[in-house]
Amino acid sequence: MSEKEKFHFTDTSDACIKCGKCIPSCTIHQINPDETTSPRGFIDLLGAYERGELELNKEAKDIFESCFLCTNCTDVCPNDLPTDMVIEEVRKDIADKFGIAWFKRAFFILLRHRWLMDLMMKLGYTFRTCGFQELPKKGGMTPRFPLPIIKSGRLLPSLGKVSFLNKYPEEIKQSGKRRVAIFIGCLANYNYTNIGDSLIEVLKELDIDAFIPKAQKCCSAPAYFTGDFKTVETLSKQNIEYFETFIDDVEAIIIPEATCSAMIKHDWEIFFNNQGMGEWANRAKKLNKKIFMATQWLEEKTDLKERLAKKGLKMPQSVTYHDACHAKKVQGIWKQPRSLLSQNYEIKEMSDSNRCCGFGGVTMQTEKYHLAELAGKPKAQMIKDSGAEIVSAECSACRMQISNSLHQADVDVVFKNPIELIAEALKA
Ligand code: SF4
Ligand code: SF4
Repeated sequence: MSEKEKFHFTDTSDACIKCGKCIPSCTIHQINPDETTSPRGFIDLLGAYERGELELNKEAKDIFESCFLCTNCTDVCPNDLPTDMVIEEVRKDIADKFGIAWFKRAFFILLRHRWLMDLMMKLGYTFRTCGFQELPKKGGMTPRFPLPIIKSGRLLPSLGKVSFLNKYPEEIKQSGKRRVAIFIGCLANYNYTNIGDSLIEVLKELDIDAFIPKAQKCCSAPAYFTGDFKTVETLSKQNIEYFETFIDDVEAIIIPEATCSAMIKHDWEIFFNNQGMGEWANRAKKLNKKIFMATQWLEEKTDLKERLAKKGLKMPQSVTYHDACHAKKVQGIWKQPRSLLSQNYEIKEMSDSNRCCGFGGVTMQTEKYHLAELAGKPKAQMIKDSGAEIVSAECSACRMQISNSLHQADVDVVFKNPIELIAEALKA
């Protein structure tokens, strides 16, 4: 990257007026109340790093890896400072200097090669009783043998027998009047496969053809948050080239996952601009107008809400809705899922639906799991206090984190994606 194209941390640190408005809502500062682990502190340290006053040593690495990338700070900053983005950028320097741990490298290799991921998942499903045990109360999996990176007693998502992309044909035809493509995301493809099944059912009810692009790749968000920019570049370029082959033939690409949608619609363009690849940034931008989170598209572009209302049905369970960071803060989507769900479900709002669940990415879920565990506790408590039987969010990363937090706190509330709840209401 030329000096001109390089991302300047000092631009951000110079623009910080030190007002501290970002500090009370910062996820890491809430559990580790120290100036160095706050948005203002991160920005200050990054400025010092760029000026050559701070060495990127193990301590600095530890600090920069403790950010949850939740974007709470950018939401309240009067100067719109992109703290999450500068942290993402420095993680590339961290990865370049310290390398990426073997298990993360192995995971990103799987993300880059769908056939290998399919094979591993099939093996994982076949031998699931050897290496993992079902948790007795709420399903899910916990490692039976001591994996060095996964704490025992932890609830992990179960594997589906067949992935979503392998289960369905490429075209699911209705009357042919309308046609959308589905981008499913890796967790919904391999683990929470009922989300895709439910989305197909909802589209069928609306008489909309579903196109399932079989060659879609991971959106690259896990690699982006870990500083593996080579993987981000490879996956996002492959996806962009592929999307361009069918984008004119569909009304939209709908995504029942906040993180994937935010990565594709928001971060690809920023990533390529920051890397000095303007042509790719423009190609990503061109696609953006047809990228939607599933509930947003269904609520704004179809008569699903009216159909749900017409049923005049009240489901027996109440729902509390968690606002995934990548849905509300990054994409401004929070009204649409509530608008659809409230037709058939009683919504019992939790005390702070905007508070980050504490997922935080691959590093947070492995090497820094103790932080994810701490950040998850208040979310589990407020879900319990809401009195709802179901917690919902359009994000499988939140689902993985919240389901485990509920399990650890022994709270008997089930997590479902809003698309699953809508499909259940339509069938009821
Ligand atoms: S992205 Fe979240 S955790 Fe990171 S500095 Fe901002 S508020 Fe704190
Ligand atoms: S809110 Fe923005 S300007 Fe104020 S301290 Fe935080 S990062 Fe700096």
